[in-house]
Amino acid sequence: MKPADFIALEERYGAHNYHPLPVVLERGEGVYVWDVEGKKYFDFLSAYSAVNQGHCHPRIVKALCDQAQKLCLTSRAFYNDCLGPYEKFATEFFGYDKLLPMNSGAEAVETALKLARRWGYKVKGIPENEALIIVCEGNFHGRTITIVTMSTDPDSYGQFGPFTPGFIQIPYNDTEALEKVLKEKGDKVCAMMVEPIQGEAGVYVPTNGYIKKCFDLCHAHNVLFIADEVQTGIGRTGKMFACDHEGVRPDMITIGKALSGGVLPVSAVLADDPVMLTIGPGEHGSTFGGFPLAAKVAVAALEVIRDEKLTENAERLGVIFREEMNKIKSPYFKYVRGKGLLNAIVTEPGDNFEAWDICLKLAEKGLLAKPTHRHIIRFAPPLVITEEQLLEACGIIREVFASL
Ligand SMILES: *Cc1c(COP(=O)(O)O)cnc(C)c1O
Repeated sequence: MKPADFIALEERYGAHNYHPLPVVLERGEGVYVWDVEGKKYFDFLSAYSAVNQGHCHPRIVKALCDQAQKLCLTSRAFYNDCLGPYEKFATEFFGYDKLLPMNSGAEAVETALKLARRWGYKVKGIPENEALIIVCEGNFHGRTITIVTMSTDPDSYGQFGPFTPGFIQIPYNDTEALEKVLKEKGDKVCAMMVEPIQGEAGVYVPTNGYIKKCFDLCHAHNVLFIADEVQTGIGRTGKMFACDHEGVRPDMITIGKALSGGVLPVSAVLADDPVMLTIGPGEHGSTFGGFPLAAKVAVAALEVIRDEKLTENAERLGVIFREEMNKIKSPYFKYVRGKGLLNAIVTEPGDNFEAWDICLKLAEKGLLAKPTHRHIIRFAPPLVITEEQLLEACGIIREVFASL
């Protein structure tokens, strides 16, 4: 079968909820993927930062295969010998009292919202069904009905209503707006949920000090500060969490994506006892959440982050990446922004071409990246990338800009 045949199958038999670049991949290793005709590419999307540890990392794949031959799924109706050791490892690794295991990032976000509301009623004493949660414009937290309620992107929420009540949207990177809402309605607000860098919005990095200020304002009003680090967490921005750049330890963190190194859908909420223990047996769960395969894979994935010093690598190579990109001289290049290895180039779209067309040219030259909006291209290679590989990839990007 040719690439066009695979694309035609998806078009004919799959829902049309994505618009992929026209490459058909069949194999991956480290920072590289290969298409069905054997062409090799740098993967500069890393499945939206799920593949921080690189494709098919042997240590993670081994953990998966070993466990798959022993026991895959028990449900939480019984104990198993993988979940407890994983929870101990992960809570020590991230420095929280407790972990609640889920599968997708959206489920972790939903879980955090439920925990926040529960805490609001049980601990803060908000009258039942009146709790409010503050979110930011331009956010991306997932795709469920409640989560698209929080979205300000019409593609995400349009014609999916009626929506979930109880959310307040404020501008991102605006602490005055936050202060105002907290002053007016703080006694009914249980939490603020925010991305420390807005990934899907185009790697939008807030002003230095923004996260710290939000955290302080929330705490002054007895409001939980929740960081959605599903994309920014686990080393991506050059620290374990993007909130670490400002020395902030959120009351709750949602993680996913790289928690499995891209091998399985594995997500979680991290929190301390006063928040986590507000939910009791039977009040929340998931058939697969924390299943033995996921537990073993997550431990291996985090060990790889630690043992291969991938967070440090992201920090160091991120600086080099932005330096290299700033050498681009092209009327289509506006600027590069980001932290660690989560970066984006903001382009100046021409009359009949946009970021999408640049991505097609990049793919032709052997580098896969994804446009977000008409004019932004995100660059987020696996964190296992070496300096030599990074410089080669930067060469490709420069060459493509030069050819426009
Ligand atoms: C990807 C993402 C999610 C949703 O994760 P899924 O696994 O796709 O459900 C939530 N929050 C952020 C910040 C994300 O980038």
